[in-house]
Amino acid sequence: MPIIRVAIDVPLPTLFDYTVADGIAVGAGQRVILPFGRRQMVGVVMECVCTTDVPPERIKPVIQVLHDSAPLSAGLLDLLRFCSDYYRYPIGQTVLSALPVRLRSDKPVISKPILSYRLTDNGAALDLESFPKRKVVQRRILAKLAEQPCNLAQLKALSATAGAQLKALVAEGWVECVALGASTPSLTLPLQGGGNRVQHTFDNAHILTGEQQQAVDAVTAAQGYACFLLHGITGSGKTEVYVHLMHAVLQRGGQVLLLVPEINLTPQLENYFRSRFPDVNLISLHSGLSEGERLHNWQQAQTGEAQIVLGTRLSVFAEIPGLALIIVDEEHDASFKQQDGLRYSARDVAIFRASQCGVPIVLGSATPSLESYHNAQVGRYQMLKLIGRALAEARLPTVRCININQTVMHHGISENLLREIEQRIARREQSLLFINRRGYAPVLMCSACGWLSNCKNCAGKLVLHLSDKRLRCHHCGYQIRVPQACPDCGNADLHPVGSGTQRIESVLQERFPDARILRVDRDSTRNKRAWQTMREQIHANEVDILVGTQMLAKGHDFPALTLVGVLNPDSALYSSDFRAPEKLFAQLVQVAGRAGRADKLGEVIIQTAFPDHPLFRALQTHDFEGWAASQLAERQMAGFPPFMYQAMLRAEGKNETDVYAYLNQARAAAKELQQAVEILGVVPAALPRRANHLRAQLLIQATSRKVLQQFLRAWQPLLDTLPAQKLRCSLDVDPLEF
Ligand SMILES: [Zn+2]
Ligand SMILES: [Zn+2]
Repeated sequence: MPIIRVAIDVPLPTLFDYTVADGIAVGAGQRVILPFGRRQMVGVVMECVCTTDVPPERIKPVIQVLHDSAPLSAGLLDLLRFCSDYYRYPIGQTVLSALPVRLRSDKPVISKPILSYRLTDNGAALDLESFPKRKVVQRRILAKLAEQPCNLAQLKALSATAGAQLKALVAEGWVECVALGASTPSLTLPLQGGGNRVQHTFDNAHILTGEQQQAVDAVTAAQGYACFLLHGITGSGKTEVYVHLMHAVLQRGGQVLLLVPEINLTPQLENYFRSRFPDVNLISLHSGLSEGERLHNWQQAQTGEAQIVLGTRLSVFAEIPGLALIIVDEEHDASFKQQDGLRYSARDVAIFRASQCGVPIVLGSATPSLESYHNAQVGRYQMLKLIGRALAEARLPTVRCININQTVMHHGISENLLREIEQRIARREQSLLFINRRGYAPVLMCSACGWLSNCKNCAGKLVLHLSDKRLRCHHCGYQIRVPQACPDCGNADLHPVGSGTQRIESVLQERFPDARILRVDRDSTRNKRAWQTMREQIHANEVDILVGTQMLAKGHDFPALTLVGVLNPDSALYSSDFRAPEKLFAQLVQVAGRAGRADKLGEVIIQTAFPDHPLFRALQTHDFEGWAASQLAERQMAGFPPFMYQAMLRAEGKNETDVYAYLNQARAAAKELQQAVEILGVVPAALPRRANHLRAQLLIQATSRKVLQQFLRAWQPLLDTLPAQKLRCSLDVDPLEF
């Protein structure tokens, strides 16, 4: 009887052997239902073998071989094996976590048809010019459907109220809902090989600048694997380079994978690329999709029907048989790194995947990560630069610092900045105030005894939220009502210290009572569609002042915005996390890039106690190169990445002794291996207590990836033998959080 080795979603670093009855065909990549303990589980066949060490009486037969979806390819299985090995994560959990949820269930999947909307004959006969102007969303939907039938997700991307408006249009008899054929998994790919040109409509509205054309030429000339770092300043037209590269790949019948950091940005980008390639099948993959949509889209990529796959980090594991190009946009973004389970970096996995498939990969950013930048400098990647703004009249914003120690401050905003905002309001231009702290104030304090609003479960403080009069912990979610008096001394004079988005909003309301102020943070956008509605308001210039966290910094184009105020950047300058200045620089460049993108000159004002800090100097002169060079020199001296390769062992538990005992034993085991790695001491985590769990960590460093990997392979089996009951432990390779 044939024996198969199966990956199962259990936390053990091994495959499991099963038999298959004679005569039943089974191959690698197929899903099987099997008995596991007393349960029934789904597994993925990793290989078929002839012999096994498992005694014959203990080996069980599989219950069923599933044929509901095409098997995973050998290439994808290899990629997952690599990830399991590199990130030291159990193979079964690695493989299963890469699949859409529906394919992880022990029931065969039934592909349901995806509903699609199209114009009826009456709808097609409507004259949009004479359609009531105030029905903005309905007009937009009709215009969109006149181009092509769309599913609900695509229409919802047009507006927050699309769902309700669509119902109205259906009721009028202008739009109808039809079931497009369910995607049936097929093994025959509609891909064209060789020199066959595939026709698609390409809206080539823009003429490339010289340097954009050079970048496109360099990538299209690549034979096989090559990694390009596309370093383009904000507004230099990286997206246009992507569009032309995609066009070249689509013409040859290939598939493109485009990775983006932010789920919030995908509908926007989806619409944009659809408008440029109106008859190309583009699908998105991200955690915001329903399980059904995700399976459908995943299978569209798998069968080759989807030519463009646009997705967040998880889409790096999509099955894409005709993959011919990978693009990672905003490659420096920390959200490409998964922070639990399989702690992979989608950017790094994408690079491995490109080399595995022998295709080019483009990493794009205005502020490349120092790792990528260094790789380009030493010649491992090829550097492509875009230093001119694509729109000739759009200039880079001017950057100016205000010394907060030499000016009048109003709860976090300087008088000078308020005056600048006033001028913008008078000119009907928008201002944005950037502050990376939500809530009203980061802490409440008693003026008599010095009591502070500490969280009872964490080492952090309870943040004051005035809107619902609560003190809330942003780490563990613990919350209480704001006390009437100090819990320690009874003094009634409690006052907020510092400022968050809500407080800035109220200062502005007081100063500019007639201004339209919009706060954008995780509290104000909790509702799923809220952020989209807000974006529409901003675009329609229905907002004078925006107050927001980093949510506002990413990728949104606000044409009327001419002033950006940065309120409290200083804490990152002297943080214990060596990456904090790098992140701050990237964030500030990004948020500054929101100012003055159209024909208006933008201005950025930074409030700081350190106006002469090299970081702000580099920002003022738009000198990424100089900044990166100084940071890299510091990293080299201090022995940090990219000159070192790191792995972090973390542990947390209710009992401090257990946590430290585990990490100290792990450290002793590491020492005994006597390998060429640096083993640091066991230290408390940056937040040493969270949700009543004590947290500590142990860092390992090596001067080469290979040496570190060798060490980890030897170390991990030892870790698995250590007593770790009641502890949460994780090994993080190439950690980003410290
Ligand atoms: Zn007190
Ligand atoms: Zn807490």
